[in-house]
Amino acid sequence: MRKTFQFRIYPGRKQEVVLTRTLITCRHLYNNSLAERKKQAELNRLKKTFDVFPWGKPEWINKYDQMLDLTATKTSYQKEVFSQVLQDVIKRVDRSFKNFFNGFGYPRFQGRDRYNSFTYPQSGFELEDGKLILSKIGSVRIILHREIEGKIKTCTIKKDIDQWYVSFSCEIEEPVPVEVKTRTGIDVGLIDLITLSNGEKIEPSKFLRVSEDKLRHEQKRLSRKKLRSKNRNKQRIIISKVHRKIRNQRNDFAHQISRMLVDNYDLIKFEDLQIQNMVRNHHLAKSISDAGWYQLMNFTEYKAAYAGKFVEFVNPAGTSQTCICGYPVPKDLSVRVHRCPSCGLVMGRDQVSAKIIEIRPSICTVGTTGINARRGLLNRGSMQRKAPGL
Ligand SMILES: [Zn+2]
Repeated sequence: MRKTFQFRIYPGRKQEVVLTRTLITCRHLYNNSLAERKKQAELNRLKKTFDVFPWGKPEWINKYDQMLDLTATKTSYQKEVFSQVLQDVIKRVDRSFKNFFNGFGYPRFQGRDRYNSFTYPQSGFELEDGKLILSKIGSVRIILHREIEGKIKTCTIKKDIDQWYVSFSCEIEEPVPVEVKTRTGIDVGLIDLITLSNGEKIEPSKFLRVSEDKLRHEQKRLSRKKLRSKNRNKQRIIISKVHRKIRNQRNDFAHQISRMLVDNYDLIKFEDLQIQNMVRNHHLAKSISDAGWYQLMNFTEYKAAYAGKFVEFVNPAGTSQTCICGYPVPKDLSVRVHRCPSCGLVMGRDQVSAKIIEIRPSICTVGTTGINARRGLLNRGSMQRKAPGL
């Protein structure tokens, strides 16, 4: 199985210019290859519609055609980029079409702010005491703050506003699945971040609130700046940095909780909520992104997979409207305490939900093997916002 290790890298000023140029070249290639595929798809559609004889059967351009084409017609810019990096760009276009056929969004052209990474898919990179040596770029300072496990397969360079990162995708050994001795159900609420079925509650970080206030403040300042002015641009960068800070804080928090869950439980159960649908519902969107539970589930899933432990999902219907004994106990959001007229149970509403989630039969298991199938589903929401291939 694959595991990703990310590190910050510190390119010199000249290297940064080359890295940025590589990104631009890759983005142009991406958009051109995508345009070519889209055009062909449109032609095929017309052919199908009219079914006119001389046009013959629809033809498809595939990634191999495009790669051959690339080798034959490299521009001077493209010659400055490691050839496998360029080929990987074409593979990304191909993947975005495959994703589309699997029910994801139609492939989109990538703007400057969206296309922020490129990949060495096999070779062209090397780690050598404190340096990451990249073909066509040079030797870049890197701080390896943790040990890399397994065998490095791919190397992706990523830009985050003014910072650069590398992530290595490594092949590691499948863990031996554990025997399930401890389990918990997790209720993800809007008031408390999460409630475990033993009643333990974990609240969102206060630092996050502070950053969010700062974000609102900076956004207000932005609205006062003149359109297309230098200051407005500066303010935009400030805002993206606050966004990054919030993102990092959310990540840290989700990492802490998922680590705690996986360390303490062999089987962790969540509600299977259709994230995508909920995010589209405007009213709920903020609370959901606030709670950051999408990340939490995702992080818990892969940490469990690495540890040979299990994450399962249950049907969310009515988890807050019934009792553990099965008796219906309808209550709206304002009712915080659950009182069952049948069995007499009195308990916090979230804990009751968590307990029901724990005992309800699962509809989807993510153990050490099923993780990728499930991940496809989970990623649906975030996918359209990210450049493909990440
Ligand atoms: Zn009851």
